[in-house]
Amino acid sequence: MRGFAQRSTVEQALAWIDAVLPPRHDLPREELELHHAAGRVLAKDVVSQANVPQFARSMMDGFAVRSEDTYGATPYNALPLRILGTCLPGQPFPHAVGPGAAVRIMTGAPLPHGADAVLPVEQTEVQGDIVQTMDQISPGKHVGQIGEDLRIGQIVLSAGRTLRPQDLGVLSSIGMLRVAVVRRPVVRILITGNELLPAGTIPTGYRIADANGPMLSALVERDGGEAMRPGIIPDQPDKILSALSEPADVVLVSGGSSVGQEDFVPKLLADQGELAIHGVAMRPSSPAGMGRLDGKLVFLLPGNPVSCLCAYDFFAGPAIRALGGRSREWPYAQRRVRLTRKLVSTVGRVDYSRVKVHADEAEPLAISGASILSSTTDADGFVIVPSDSEGYSAGAEVVVFLYK
Ligand code: AMP
Ligand code: MG
Repeated sequence: MRGFAQRSTVEQALAWIDAVLPPRHDLPREELELHHAAGRVLAKDVVSQANVPQFARSMMDGFAVRSEDTYGATPYNALPLRILGTCLPGQPFPHAVGPGAAVRIMTGAPLPHGADAVLPVEQTEVQGDIVQTMDQISPGKHVGQIGEDLRIGQIVLSAGRTLRPQDLGVLSSIGMLRVAVVRRPVVRILITGNELLPAGTIPTGYRIADANGPMLSALVERDGGEAMRPGIIPDQPDKILSALSEPADVVLVSGGSSVGQEDFVPKLLADQGELAIHGVAMRPSSPAGMGRLDGKLVFLLPGNPVSCLCAYDFFAGPAIRALGGRSREWPYAQRRVRLTRKLVSTVGRVDYSRVKVHADEAEPLAISGASILSSTTDADGFVIVPSDSEGYSAGAEVVVFLYK
């Protein structure tokens, strides 16, 4: 066992990630049916192949008329028009509307030839096959024009967009059944530690239940990755190596990332692939690391749950989001608040400090050990103290990243 000779800075670790991530246009894609595409990232611009609507249609229930036939009509001077028939949605009307004529029309029905406006039913009175128009109407009134919603050749949605439910409606309306989206990165979550019981087991003896597995799965799903959970891997180099060798885009290894006797992962990675960063000047998470193996990005996350969360959010999360075509930014809302108490840090490392937010103030949590996961559930968010800072005095304004 030897300590870390030298730690990388957070910036160096982030720069390495930046350098190894593929450019956005090179991300693997897949075609999905619209029904499965909500929340996915569009892989390329969508250009409309259709006009919506592709015929002039009525926007009201009423009468299709020649607008000039209504000029001068008022409730006191109703003008009569002869009703030729009824125009229903989805069906063409067989006759043209000539002078003095009107056609009863429903919302969504194609405007018959000759007509140029729709007089809403409220502005008419019907007597047998005569409609009395009680208002004059201008050309085009209550008519949905060809392509007024979407036009052929128009970019309907741009690459990189996270598809919203209404986007799927728009894609469907231009006749798309399938859409090209960025493939979700497959993220293999390896939970290592001989002392671990499967997640959700009541702790017995000297063993503890896995807290990191469920937490990491949720983080990966949040960030658009597809989480694979092969279960708990014992601290045995051959078992760890075979788990590391399974196919994936990203591998997260929880535990065994440091320089202890049972910490095999850094050496395995260095021997079999590339250990680019090992040890980062930050607290918690200083035993974090990262590298590559057979084209997979591998993140070594310390087993202490707070460190695991912090290292994930600093390094793995941005990489997974970027691999899925998403923003690398933290998905946490930010708030500027004042500190109730002093927040002490040390120059030369980045601190991830949990705080509670009351009204417009943030209170640093007293218990901040990396093993105290409940500090992250008690907290409303965290403050990042940069490495050149000794911390903040009471009353200082800080940015809190809110967990929710
Ligand atoms: P390690 O990173 O393996 O040295 O573990 C550091 C500490 O975190 C030890 O106290 C471990 O028992 C604990 N630990 C490791 N993995 C987990 C886990 N999945 N859930 C909760 N605690 C863990
Ligand atoms: Mg361990």
